[in-house]
Amino acid sequence: MLRRVFRLFLFQLLGAVVGYMLWPSATYMQGLIAGIVGASWVWLMIDLRRGHKLRRWLRTGDTGSPPRIPGYWGEITDRVRRLLRDRDRLLRDSDARLQEFLSAIQASPNGVVLLDAEGRIEWCNQTAAEHFGFDARRDVLQLIGNLVRDPAFAAYQAAGDFTHDVVMPGPGSSSSRPVRLSVHLHPYGEGRALMMSRDVTALEQADAMRRDFVANVSHEIRTPLTVLGGFVETMQNLPLDASERQRYLSLMSQQAERMQSLVRDLLTLSRLEGSPPPRTDEWIDVRGLIAQCEEEGRELSMLMSEMGHNLQVEITGDSEIAGSPVELHSAMANLVNNAIRYTPTGGKVVVRWRVLEDGNGEFSVTDTGPGIAPEHLPRLTERFYRIDRSRSRETGGTGLGLAIVKHVAQRHAGSLTIDSTPGHGSCFAITLPANRVRAVQSLKAAA
Ligand code: ADP
Repeated sequence: MLRRVFRLFLFQLLGAVVGYMLWPSATYMQGLIAGIVGASWVWLMIDLRRGHKLRRWLRTGDTGSPPRIPGYWGEITDRVRRLLRDRDRLLRDSDARLQEFLSAIQASPNGVVLLDAEGRIEWCNQTAAEHFGFDARRDVLQLIGNLVRDPAFAAYQAAGDFTHDVVMPGPGSSSSRPVRLSVHLHPYGEGRALMMSRDVTALEQADAMRRDFVANVSHEIRTPLTVLGGFVETMQNLPLDASERQRYLSLMSQQAERMQSLVRDLLTLSRLEGSPPPRTDEWIDVRGLIAQCEEEGRELSMLMSEMGHNLQVEITGDSEIAGSPVELHSAMANLVNNAIRYTPTGGKVVVRWRVLEDGNGEFSVTDTGPGIAPEHLPRLTERFYRIDRSRSRETGGTGLGLAIVKHVAQRHAGSLTIDSTPGHGSCFAITLPANRVRAVQSLKAAA
């Protein structure tokens, strides 16, 4: 500031000298005063012009390129320019941080919607847009209540108790393809709210499956237990002769055997679910596996009736399978035993192994049993699904056999296919991928 006053003074001094020299005819004082006044005006004009330049730049100018102004106003311009540059950098930094933050929320598997105090959408991520069928850009500033019209959500919003979530059907949900969303509002700031959504369809389905499973297991165990209890009571209360006692004990043993089979199959299933995938470097001889199943099948057939079944085995080529011998035996034996159990005695059961043209291996069991109506086929591998409960129980079935077979096939990267025509028998086939099948012959030749 002092420099500025000093400059004005210098200007006036210069004006006085010029005035004195320009008007030599005037009195000494007049020339001086005219020079000082003139110089002051000139100084003022220059100063105003510089100030005006600065003001114009501040109002409309490009903050990136400030005007070149010398002196006092130049210093102010410089200071303002630096302040503006710092502000821009700060803005850029916070914008970058905001973008990073929004990208993180975008990446969230949960839907996130920011609502203002009136319940209007301020921002939402792509997951929320998919959950609710929003358009992430177009629907900004729309009232959430107008877009999410489910009555459960409306009641939840109106009640104002946001200590829990609300579960509602998602858009496009149908009875054949249900979509369930869990929506939770979290109030923050002044009346604002963060709305989080989660697709809980799989969770709810798993929960329903778990409930069904527990109910089924309880039911399956309760039936033999009730029968056993009844026999125990009878034996306690009634005077029975030796042959009657023997008959009752044999029936009790059947029920105990039924429970044992159930527990065995349940343990097999839980082992399959909890263990790592079968190895790809443990090779099992197919002939050995099938011979074991055949022997067990013949025993079962003889147990069912003396006449037995016409059980045939057709193996093409000597092959090996990579996988778990216990699991593969369990799956193959299940199919052979089912064919024998459901085919009337005297019927034909053919067990086949062949390597297909694409290198995949196929193990199949064909029977001349009653066959299966097409509506049952898609559900046969569900746990405890049976077409004829009493027939299944009579033959010692648990309703878990095909679920185990499917699981084993999938764990070996294979699949289970079922072909059946009512009245003409069925064919159950396990297909294993080429990388788990190799020919024993070629291996020996190579060695
Ligand atoms: P289960 O222990 O009852 O045999 P599974 O899971 O092995 O249970 O089979 C499910 C149902 O599929 C059986 O209850 C039966 O109705 C039907 N099924 C299985 N194999 C055959 C077959 N070879 N022929 C006819 N029906 C079959």
